[in-house]
Amino acid sequence: MFGLFYPYGIVLQAIALLHFARRRPDMYWLWIILIGGGLGALIYIVIEVAPDVGLVRGAFQVFPRRKRIKELEGLIIPTRGQMIATEPLSERLFPMPHYGRHGYDYWHQNEEGRLIVGGFRDADMDSEFTAEETTTERIQGALDGFAEALLGRRPTVEHRWAGVFGLVPDLMPVVGRHPVQDGVWIAGGYSGHGNVLGLMCGDLVAQAIAGEPHPLLERMSPARLVA
Ligand SMILES: Cc1cc2nc3c(=O)[nH]c(=O)nc-3n(C[C@H](O)[C@H](O)[C@H](O)COP(=O)(O)OP(=O)(O)OC[C@H]3O[C@@H](n4cnc5c(N)ncnc54)[C@H](O)[C@@H]3O)c2cc1C
Repeated sequence: MFGLFYPYGIVLQAIALLHFARRRPDMYWLWIILIGGGLGALIYIVIEVAPDVGLVRGAFQVFPRRKRIKELEGLIIPTRGQMIATEPLSERLFPMPHYGRHGYDYWHQNEEGRLIVGGFRDADMDSEFTAEETTTERIQGALDGFAEALLGRRPTVEHRWAGVFGLVPDLMPVVGRHPVQDGVWIAGGYSGHGNVLGLMCGDLVAQAIAGEPHPLLERMSPARLVA
């Protein structure tokens, strides 16, 4: 009924209430919006909503920023790694992680006794330069064969999976300030060796943001990829 005489006031109240519910400013604003009607809502919008418009503008700037990150992503080659995990084994054969063939193959036995084997990317190199996290018969077959060779018998494989890592042509991590976009920092591109490097590089980025850049960052600069 009130809306018939004051339709814009209702719209303003709706906007103000929506903003109030999201941003939760001081409680007295709720009474100003409800009791003050359209005028109260207008005052609320001018004082509380208008300053937030700047934030919304910032949100739109995300799109070009995302595009620039995408351009950098194009210089890091997505590469798939496939894994298997056997049933828990009664004997402990591999108390520490192992690497073979310069890191192409890797395996360890976890605390449950499962033998976890990964690698053999070179059994089908072409198919593994992909961002698709799916297993393939060829690589899984190579992993099965390797697990059998390690154990001297064919184990039951209970888990199979694939993951994607970022391979960088010069094999150096990509860590530091974004070459184009102010305020954007990058830590990635570990070429499949980020379990330890990831922690170290996260720390280096934090130090650099705090104003203490480590000399190592010069070797890892993202700018080298777009130079
Ligand atoms: C199959 C395979 C085998 C590997 N083997 C080895 C190895 O033997 N040795 C080794 O050193 N490295 C290995 N790696 C590489 C290693 O796993 C990675 O380099 C490392 O995990 C990178 O760490 P990170 O913290 O930078 O990223 P991640 O471990 O990928 O962590 C990023 C996190 O951010 C989260 N996230 C993503 N987007 C968002 C978002 N929008 N909001 C909130 N959270 C988000 C993700 O869920 C994830 O938890 C392997 C990788 C694969 C795929």
